[in-house]
Amino acid sequence: MTSFLHPGAQRPGGSNSNSPPPSQQHPPHPNYGNPNALADNLQSMNLNRPNYAAPRASPFGQPPPPISSAAPSPGHWAGSQPVARPGPSPLSMITRPMGGPPSRAPPGAFIGRPMGPAGSHPPPPSSLQSSVANHVGPSPRFPVSTGGSATMPTATGVGALPFATGMVSSTPLGATQAGPVSVGPPVASGPRFGPQVGVPPPTVTSSASAPSQVPTMPPFISGPPRTAMQTAPSFSSQPQPAMVPLPGSSFVAQPWQMRPGQIDQPPPGPGAVQPPRMYALPNQSMTSISHGMAPTGASSGGPSKIDPNQIPRPIPNSTVILHETRQGDQANPPPPATSDYIARDTGNCSPRYMRCTINQIPCTADLLATSGMQLALLVQPLALPHPSEAPIQVVDFGESGPVRCSRCKGYINPFMRFIDQGRKFICNLCGFTDETPRDYHCNLGPDGRRRDADGRPELCKGTVEFVASKEYMIREPMPAVYFFLIDVSMNAMQIGATAAACSAISQVISELPEGPRTLVGIATFDSAIHFYNLKRALQQPLMLIVPDIQDVYTPLQSDVIVPLSECRQHLELLLESIPTMFENNRIAESAFGAGIKAAFLAMKISGGKLLVFQSVLPSVGIGALSARDAEGRTNISAGEKETHKLLQPADKTLKTMAIEFAEYQVCVDVFLTTQSYIDIASISVVPQTTGGQVYYYQSFSALSDTAKLYNDLRWNITRPQGFEAVMRVRCSQGIQVQEYHGNFCKRIPTDIDLPAIDCDKAIMVSLKHDDKLPDGSEFAFQCALLYTTLYGQRRIRVTTLSLSVTSMLSSLFRVADLDAQFTCLLKQAAIGIPSTPLLQVREHAINTCINILLSYRKFCATVSSSGQLILPEALKLLPLYTLALLKSVGLQPDGKIDDRSIWVNFVSSISAPLAIPLVYPRMISVHDLKTNEDESMVPSSIPLSSEHLSDGGIYLLENGDDALIYVGAAVDSGILLQLFGASTVEEIPSQFVLQQYDNPLSKKLNEVVNEIRRQRCSYLRLRICKKGSPSGMLFFSQLVEDKNQGCMSYVEFLVHIHRQIQTRMS
Ligand SMILES: [Zn+2]
Repeated sequence: MTSFLHPGAQRPGGSNSNSPPPSQQHPPHPNYGNPNALADNLQSMNLNRPNYAAPRASPFGQPPPPISSAAPSPGHWAGSQPVARPGPSPLSMITRPMGGPPSRAPPGAFIGRPMGPAGSHPPPPSSLQSSVANHVGPSPRFPVSTGGSATMPTATGVGALPFATGMVSSTPLGATQAGPVSVGPPVASGPRFGPQVGVPPPTVTSSASAPSQVPTMPPFISGPPRTAMQTAPSFSSQPQPAMVPLPGSSFVAQPWQMRPGQIDQPPPGPGAVQPPRMYALPNQSMTSISHGMAPTGASSGGPSKIDPNQIPRPIPNSTVILHETRQGDQANPPPPATSDYIARDTGNCSPRYMRCTINQIPCTADLLATSGMQLALLVQPLALPHPSEAPIQVVDFGESGPVRCSRCKGYINPFMRFIDQGRKFICNLCGFTDETPRDYHCNLGPDGRRRDADGRPELCKGTVEFVASKEYMIREPMPAVYFFLIDVSMNAMQIGATAAACSAISQVISELPEGPRTLVGIATFDSAIHFYNLKRALQQPLMLIVPDIQDVYTPLQSDVIVPLSECRQHLELLLESIPTMFENNRIAESAFGAGIKAAFLAMKISGGKLLVFQSVLPSVGIGALSARDAEGRTNISAGEKETHKLLQPADKTLKTMAIEFAEYQVCVDVFLTTQSYIDIASISVVPQTTGGQVYYYQSFSALSDTAKLYNDLRWNITRPQGFEAVMRVRCSQGIQVQEYHGNFCKRIPTDIDLPAIDCDKAIMVSLKHDDKLPDGSEFAFQCALLYTTLYGQRRIRVTTLSLSVTSMLSSLFRVADLDAQFTCLLKQAAIGIPSTPLLQVREHAINTCINILLSYRKFCATVSSSGQLILPEALKLLPLYTLALLKSVGLQPDGKIDDRSIWVNFVSSISAPLAIPLVYPRMISVHDLKTNEDESMVPSSIPLSSEHLSDGGIYLLENGDDALIYVGAAVDSGILLQLFGASTVEEIPSQFVLQQYDNPLSKKLNEVVNEIRRQRCSYLRLRICKKGSPSGMLFFSQLVEDKNQGCMSYVEFLVHIHRQIQTRMS
């Protein structure tokens, strides 16, 4: 087994003494098929940008870009000779005759298909509705399955389904977009990756070059943001009430009364940028809520009345925040993860890459325990930057590799201190003093810094990327391998899932990286596995059947995975033919486990991405599953104690396989296009262990889900990502990494292995003290990710965050990071769900919230009446988010097992910006969208309370993955006609596909939906909800401030928390 050195591996002592034998040598930057080294570096610099001349189109924007801008180069299509048809294999293997594809579709017809809107090119016969949502295709009819496991998709089914499922992404509520600078996935017109053409060459600094000559990298997008921005106030630069100790408290309280008449300012944003005025007042650092006088109090009598209009809620911030990561030689607490900000790396990494739950480090474990908060990092090493942020600089130290501490192997960073005229440096992680390598020596200036520090990214930036030298690899960086595995069993065919998968794959092929290093393979399966020989020399793709699904093997290992450039036509043809070939398939069995095992065997030599499209419960072969007890059953009462076991994998077979896959750098993504129980708890183990992802199309509908499937696949393939990665987080002395949580495989305690990692994946790193830290000192975390880019370059991305140590409890509350804290709380709940009775998980969440507030009340708040609930300003939304968590799918006892499993799976790799909307969705009103240009694209959000809805309104609610459109019972028929082309609510089809009609309101709604898709990096699944129907109930269940889901209303919950605190105080 080949494996790479881990970031923590010993460096060879001398750079030249340890050269590998010539046979193992290879150039440090393989430039496969790309003669343009500058462009090549540029791609890496910009997160593995593809090397097309044209920018990539968004997977989420609605009309796909015109063909002309994205069509594959003619070279790939040059030989459009008569195309071979699939046919019987002449080989001795067992073969199955393949039906020929319809003759009316020559290969040339597919050239435009990948990017063109449906309808603009001849769609393949198998193609259902394509990527464009506003195209209406004929509604396919699907026979009802006779197998008993599949059901027809029905409109009413939706109502019973939870909303938060599948993969999610998001932007927070607090950040209702309005900012001028776009954040989101790459869009054809909106530049996440920025145009490649015309961008100046990247900066690669080398240790040999004079630092002063190093140009600064231009930002992705040139030019300043188009509207005014505000600079995030620095905590350190603002008057801080907490700095003024009062008798009996180390923290100053501002009893910010909630009673009407006592307040004239609404609460500031969600921990967001605090308006400067907050700091101009002496007593402004907490929120208190008094009881007693509110007219609309929730509880009866007593001291429990709270005015619902005065309680803390996220407040949209429409301005873009400029955030400098360090100011005045100390860390600047970051803006909320959910806000729209542009980070400037002034020594610490951008909070996108690493964020700590507290922005100062408690000096002892006791102090941390007293606070009730947890200390953890959220690491997202390949996170998408804001388009206006400067790109990460790549540093090449040549043969010797990056400078590292010889004791702890920490990487050189801005906080390593050079002494003795620069001849030595002290490691900020372990304290060891090292000799400076001779060729890295530089004199120190009067300020004690190296004179070249500002010109060397590794000495002034919190995030840099080092070119990995040979010692970081023991084989060539792996090629980009994509293997598609498609379920063609009877149900998959009947619900249109196979056709949808083939259509999606066919459309994204042109988006795969160009060049000879891109390899592809394809197989289908039912109760047997069918490989296809795509070798160019053959006249037609051959089907090779592997019937043994217990002891799987792979036929013709060298020919089932071939360079994309050599098999485009065969592949296109095959994808078009598959739905026809299996049209009348009557095999209901599905050998998922055997299929992935066989594909793995084919990919084992290289590693790569395995993309599986699965539609039914895997029923035969290795790793077969049976419908466990929970199938279709709710479990409110029955066996509550044992229910959680159904959220665990059925057995260890798939896990064992997944560990082997990870060892050989195979990452598995699973697209579950199903209408029935599929045991996500068992299946999801494979993606989770291999750095992959589960996509779930609950109650799959070929009409409304095909576009989402295509967009999800497209983003999966085009988003910034890396392969064969290893990651480690190092800490300064006194704190250790306790555990990592996320989608990866762990073989040794200190490192995690990621066969693949992409921009959407976050990893939670929990931390524990093992010593007392000196008060006032700097404490650093460093994450090193060694990975291979799409273009075969080996890189080490190093992100460093240095925070100050404090002994003051009040400081911890002042700089607590709500979004990070809550994301950790969410992840811990998800971790607990499969192993702990639900009641305990729920209690743990509530207690965590109460303990934090109790600690603050007890030790930090100035004396105030016991009738006040006092919330630390930075965490004032914690009760709201905790309540929302209790009402989320994962923590609801009556949810379907698969729905809860997908929620747990989704949370395991969720990033902070997406965690908040997952539980506290964004709701906007649609019927009154402003259609004039200068309005911000997405209107301000509405609190999640039914009090804010009217019968005459239409509302859109989205959590980053799913969206519900609620249509009130008394909406003006003119508005219905404009938006839905229907004059009554009843006429709107339940199988909803958003369309654009020729009127400003409809156009605006489409714009808003596309903008949200872009922000969330996710193609939202839209569902219509009507009052009085199950879908309407689904919508109302999302209004977390209401009394619903068997839980209290927000006001009641605040009262509950307050009483708990009072009880514990006395
Ligand atoms: Zn060290």
